[in-house]
Amino acid sequence: MTEETPEARDFIRDIVQADLVAGTHKSVVTRFPPEPNGYLHIGHAKSICLNFGIAQEFGGRCHLRFDDTNPAKEEQEYIDAIKDDVHWLGFDWGTNLHHASDYFEQLYLWAEKLIQDGKAYVDDQTADEIRATRGTLTEAGTNSPFRTRSIDENLDLFRRMRAGEFPDGTRVLRAKIDMASGNINLRDPVMYRILHAPHPRTGTAWKIYPSYDFAHGQSDAIETITHSVCTLEFADHRPLYDWFIEHLPVPSRPRQYEFARLNLTHTVLSKRVLTALVKGGHVAGWDDPRMPTLAGFRRRGVPPEAIRDFIKRVGVAKSNSVVEAGMLDFSIREALNRAAPRRMAVLRPLKVVIENYPEGKTETLEAVNHPDDASLGTRQVTFGRELYVEHDDFMENPPKKFFRLSPGQEVRLRYAYFIKCREAIKNAAGEVVELRCTYDPETKGGNAPDGRKVKATLHWVAAADAVDAEVRLYNPLFLSPAPSGGEGFAADLNPQSLEVIRDAKLEPAAAIGNAPNAVHCAVQFERLGYFCPDKDSAPGKPVFNRTVGLRDSYAKAKD
Ligand code: ATP
Ligand code: MG
Repeated sequence: MTEETPEARDFIRDIVQADLVAGTHKSVVTRFPPEPNGYLHIGHAKSICLNFGIAQEFGGRCHLRFDDTNPAKEEQEYIDAIKDDVHWLGFDWGTNLHHASDYFEQLYLWAEKLIQDGKAYVDDQTADEIRATRGTLTEAGTNSPFRTRSIDENLDLFRRMRAGEFPDGTRVLRAKIDMASGNINLRDPVMYRILHAPHPRTGTAWKIYPSYDFAHGQSDAIETITHSVCTLEFADHRPLYDWFIEHLPVPSRPRQYEFARLNLTHTVLSKRVLTALVKGGHVAGWDDPRMPTLAGFRRRGVPPEAIRDFIKRVGVAKSNSVVEAGMLDFSIREALNRAAPRRMAVLRPLKVVIENYPEGKTETLEAVNHPDDASLGTRQVTFGRELYVEHDDFMENPPKKFFRLSPGQEVRLRYAYFIKCREAIKNAAGEVVELRCTYDPETKGGNAPDGRKVKATLHWVAAADAVDAEVRLYNPLFLSPAPSGGEGFAADLNPQSLEVIRDAKLEPAAAIGNAPNAVHCAVQFERLGYFCPDKDSAPGKPVFNRTVGLRDSYAKAKD
């Protein structure tokens, strides 16, 4: 964490603290309950940091619990990826790895208990009929014709549902609460549905699966969770959560608290849309660096501490809001600025020939690895007669305030010499393909003994030992600052979200140590941004991702 961002305080932490002080709980137990139907995204990071963070800060524990109640959408790949991502983010559940499916037998027995108490019934209506009779916010629902079934008939049918006697969708088990309740969640909610689908953990043992509402609170109670923290859209489910806890002989009485979910500009955090992006081939997978997934951020070179810092800065509130994507970039820059060694790379190379530098000669010059951290040391860079500079750093007919290279203009090459542009060579199409320059040997190290000044310092790479690299630049995946995330999401995709540069030139030190996915592998390419080797790198052919630019590109986009 950065020193600048103080420890979090928020209403959830206040509640936990008060409960510990009052002795309501001896220690705090939280959980992070992902459904394994996709990869984790930055919104989940908020929930992880909150739940695991509270456990750490108050000396309690946090469980990782897979909410694996819908095998139609859940996969082992997601379970594995979620574990990896939670670890990567810096949290550990220790021995507290759980699955809602571990409790399927207990949940089933509790469902039978509700039937026996006259508090649950088997409904033969179709899903459409159930929806149509649920009523609206202003009108009460109507009772199912099957609501008055006898306890024995209900038990018999429910047991046969379990045994697999009925096809998918033909019957459900519903809690018998109140079809006229002002809270729609209490209008006889579904507890079990029939689904003949194999489960990643229980195989074909079950033909019925519990609903989120029936599984969640009871799983919390079994694990003796003290504070069950979830997002605001579950506030309306809390009376139902409490109803089950009240009517079942559960071993503990957890309480649910709700906080605002994280929303980010330019970003969609709907798992449905993220899945559609992957399955539709709009991105190169869940870990595509344009994805707001933790796997995507990791691949892009974002250090986990940057995400934790961002989440801390966002805070935990009771009302929903949208956070600027630029704020996340700020935390990423903060973290990388401290740690990333500086290197030189040229993304769009323009060849420079130093006419008065001897042919065949090269020399090595010293370059600092970090301007603010001498402990990172120095390295040697090669200088020679042929160099590359950034194409953008030359203009043939510059406007008044352009101080970089143009005919007759002198600039400093970082760590090297002053050079002056004499002539621009063009190809048949009239494009500038080479600059003819001279250097001043008296300016070695970048200062003129006669005190003359230059107004620009450029990065460069020597042709003699330049390493060719592919560099991938990422822009927002969606054009709109507030992507709807609805059905038409594809029309809002940014066609320029990925820019591939195939012939970038790197100084050799930048290409070294490009172990794929190595932690803290990020480097700053001077004047360009922070970059990190991609897993697509091959020996002698590095591929770099731009993690983030040096400036706030979202702010610039607004002008
Ligand atoms: P869905 O339930 O629609 O598949 P989900 O994003 O809620 O999607 P879960 O796997 O159920 O996915 O989420 C696990 C936990 O992460 C939940 O407790 C949920 O409240 C929390 N969570 C999900 N999205 C966000 C978000 N944007 N901000 C904060 N917490 C979130
Ligand atoms: Mg959910």
